[in-house]
Amino acid sequence: MDIQEKIEILTEGAKYDVSCSSSGSSRRGSSNGIGSTASSGICHSWADDGRCISLLKILYSNYCIYDCIYCVNRASNDVRRAAFTPEELAKLTIEFYKRNYIEGLFLSSGVINTPDYTMECLIQTMKILREQYRFNGYIHMKAIPGADEKLIQLAGTYADRMSINIELPTEESLLKLAPQKKKEMITKPMTYISNQISEQRENRKKYKRTPSFVPAGQSTQLIIGATPDKDYQVLRLTEGLYKHFQLKRVYYSSYIPIVEHPSLPTTSGSSLVREHRLYQADWLLRFYGFDVDELFNNNYGQQLDLTLDPKCDWALRNIELFPVEVNKADYEMLLKVPGIGIKSARKIVTARRFGPISYEGLKQMGIVLKRAQYFITCQGKYYGSVSLDGHRIRNKLVGVYGNQQSSNITIGQSYQLSFF
Ligand code: SF4
Repeated sequence: MDIQEKIEILTEGAKYDVSCSSSGSSRRGSSNGIGSTASSGICHSWADDGRCISLLKILYSNYCIYDCIYCVNRASNDVRRAAFTPEELAKLTIEFYKRNYIEGLFLSSGVINTPDYTMECLIQTMKILREQYRFNGYIHMKAIPGADEKLIQLAGTYADRMSINIELPTEESLLKLAPQKKKEMITKPMTYISNQISEQRENRKKYKRTPSFVPAGQSTQLIIGATPDKDYQVLRLTEGLYKHFQLKRVYYSSYIPIVEHPSLPTTSGSSLVREHRLYQADWLLRFYGFDVDELFNNNYGQQLDLTLDPKCDWALRNIELFPVEVNKADYEMLLKVPGIGIKSARKIVTARRFGPISYEGLKQMGIVLKRAQYFITCQGKYYGSVSLDGHRIRNKLVGVYGNQQSSNITIGQSYQLSFF
């Protein structure tokens, strides 16, 4: 099989993993233009400083000994199979890099023979890239669940980021859709990576030349909608992952029915709106001081309200805390106001040291007043277009979609997707 064919098969097999962010798009090129978004596995990720980096997103191999029911590469699925050698994949990456197609590599694989054997192949690929080609670019590697800790340790010295995908939020779901994978196969290496990161951080304080270990941290991915797991379970798990494993990011991937099986939903069990609400809730947990219990409305059981972003929903359920006076409220309370983000809250706190802030001043600071107007006063005046009444404000915020049942919102009907 030639390299071109391997690239086609192994980039196709990698595209359902969102744990390095986007997977490009399907816009077709034209003969009189330049550039293409669809060709062979270039995806984009974001560095800590906000830079967008393009990655070659590819599998080492799509052979797999496991049979995870939701996965296109599962052992029992009839798909074309291919595998690189470490030399081939390292050479391909460096050639793409030299041609300026990519700035880094997102490397994953099905499990060939054993988890340890697969890890050795991935490590060998990275070793060639780092040592033979002296490649200093970004490498995000998917660790193989069940691999030996010594191999995880070695991989961590070559990779910038490692992820181990949990995929299914509960043990029950794992048992149903990926029975060969045990929870410990995922949590054990995650714990090991987390401990190594902490240890390395401590060592660095004492010894300048401490070798690096996954300097960009670890992340994971959860599939949403392949099982009946609720948003509450997903976010409880997320909260634990951030607290106990120091994860940099948890990615949520709305289930896409690419393979058929009686245990799988026949249509997308989820929606892009649900995925987006989970990302918004995740943001609130990490940066806005919310905890999971605060984000849930009893009317929706253990699901997030799809018609409103979770911060608005929380504010409306706690309307007695509002309006807050922007010239007096503390920073933590400002953060809880819909329409005021972290940067805006900081700007308000800084600006009011020099004098009272006017409503006009809030506009100039970039506060999203179409939401914030209902929850603040400015120099004692309330500017909301309706009185401070939870139902009326909800109708205003939900707007034209107010009478739409949240359960009817599916892919293609997305709306109100702005962040806070
Ligand atoms: S181990 Fe990974 S590649 Fe193999 S079937 Fe499961 S999800 Fe797919």
